[in-house]
Amino acid sequence: DQEAEDEGDDVLEIRPPVVTVMGHVDHGKTRLLDAIRNANVVEGEAGGITQHIGAYQVWHEHEGIERAITFIDTPGHEAFTAMRARGAQVTDIAILVVAADDGIMPQTVEALNHAQAANVPIVVAVNKVDKEDANPSKVRAQLTEYGLVAEEFGGDTMFVDVSARNNLNIDSLIEAVLLTADAGLDLRANPNKEARGIAIEAKLDKGRGAVATVLIQSGTLRVGDPIVAGTAYGRVRAMLDENGQVVTEAEPSRPVQVQGLSSVPRAGDTFIVTEEDRTARQIAEKREAVERNASLAKSRKRISLEDFTRALEEGKVESLNLIIKGDVSGAVEALEESLLKIDVDDSVQLRIIHRGVGAITESDVNLATVDNAIIIGFNVRPDTKARERAAREGVDVRFYSVIYGALEDIENSLKGMLKPEFEEVQSGVAEIREVFRSSKFGNIAGCIVRSGTITRNATARVIRDGIVIADNLAIDSLRRFKDDVTEVRTDFECGIGLGKYNDIQIGDEIETTELVEKPRV
Ligand code: GDP
Repeated sequence: DQEAEDEGDDVLEIRPPVVTVMGHVDHGKTRLLDAIRNANVVEGEAGGITQHIGAYQVWHEHEGIERAITFIDTPGHEAFTAMRARGAQVTDIAILVVAADDGIMPQTVEALNHAQAANVPIVVAVNKVDKEDANPSKVRAQLTEYGLVAEEFGGDTMFVDVSARNNLNIDSLIEAVLLTADAGLDLRANPNKEARGIAIEAKLDKGRGAVATVLIQSGTLRVGDPIVAGTAYGRVRAMLDENGQVVTEAEPSRPVQVQGLSSVPRAGDTFIVTEEDRTARQIAEKREAVERNASLAKSRKRISLEDFTRALEEGKVESLNLIIKGDVSGAVEALEESLLKIDVDDSVQLRIIHRGVGAITESDVNLATVDNAIIIGFNVRPDTKARERAAREGVDVRFYSVIYGALEDIENSLKGMLKPEFEEVQSGVAEIREVFRSSKFGNIAGCIVRSGTITRNATARVIRDGIVIADNLAIDSLRRFKDDVTEVRTDFECGIGLGKYNDIQIGDEIETTELVEKPRV
């Protein structure tokens, strides 16, 4: 534990675990967070006026001792991974919510992959057991395949059957969280020093200015402390807890809403208390300058498959992390299976940190950023946000339409062989805004070019909702107004004819690729 190394055992005190609730949409994350909060409201207390400050604490008697648990009040794994992408890990334990009637769904798998990639232990809440068609044992069986084996079956994951609706077994769930914390986690921090922690949520409030909810990770935060959070600085003018109550100090794992910052920090920004106001301001200004420079510099360098191979030859890396997204689950599984069968040296490890069906999302790109992974898209593409983010972060996203192609590239890379001289690169993406029927040319796609350049002699494919629906098409005609042109650049409109291929709709994307010679380094 970092804290223990920093300051010796004697100053450390037990701190509450910090918990995030994840799971598939509609499986009851929000309702469960409400049930947990309500289970704790003492009868008649403050009229139960809860504030949404992004996190809250509950108290639970465990082996005769009152213990606190902190819940992050933003359900889902997206915020969790977005914060990790900024270098912040706030969560100690993840509650994976699975509806007992639905069983595991794509986002269940996504959530558990994200938690596992972060090395965060999981407690499974099998929710909606009040429903007639609830099948909690099926959920247990399904999750076994993902390495979550229930204690009653000899594994080490705690499963608790709950009903958020009927407030059933909420206490047992909290108990399971505490047992998981005590079993393997050394959750301690020194409360007797200047505070540091993470901003988990922030906003601009009309009356109060910048307000940020911060989670204290060590030390104690007090009103009057000079602080810097990201590029925001100031003095703690006032602090509120989740019940809207004024607090004057906050110890480790306590979430509080802080007023007094000069601007709004971002979720995942680290905050520290400084001795003087001046120091806080100087740090903030320095950070601001660094950020300006960083955004001027081109996209950050992430590992690409080529970099990996080169580093491997130099003995500098051991593992290649992959994220696989595909259009159908069969293809994803087949690809994963074949990849894991690649026979490589024991010193090299291939880790598939996430797999799923559907377009490549921003959340996939975030995960790739955090764990320096390469994304394999099998007949799928990134959505706009994911594409922009991948470009900004320099994430290597590779597209394949045959399993063999992907397999060959990864295998060559793992065996230290650089790729062949030519590779297919994306040259342009156009969005279809209108479809014109022409008896002479077939359907013409009225497009706007979204990125790169569409060229007349490129190879085209059609993408609908992130899935490739037609590949290897030739561009039959490329026009601006009435003129035939050889290329059309970003933000310009054009008409594209794909010859005999007529199955196009408004909203589809036409992507073009070209073969280019690979630069050899
Ligand atoms: P989220 O998308 O995971 O945050 O899911 P919500 O908390 O919004 O719940 C989705 C739906 O499931 C809502 O209509 C809830 O009322 C319902 N729901 C949540 N928990 C339970 C439960 O324990 N039993 C039943 N029957 N319905 C539930």
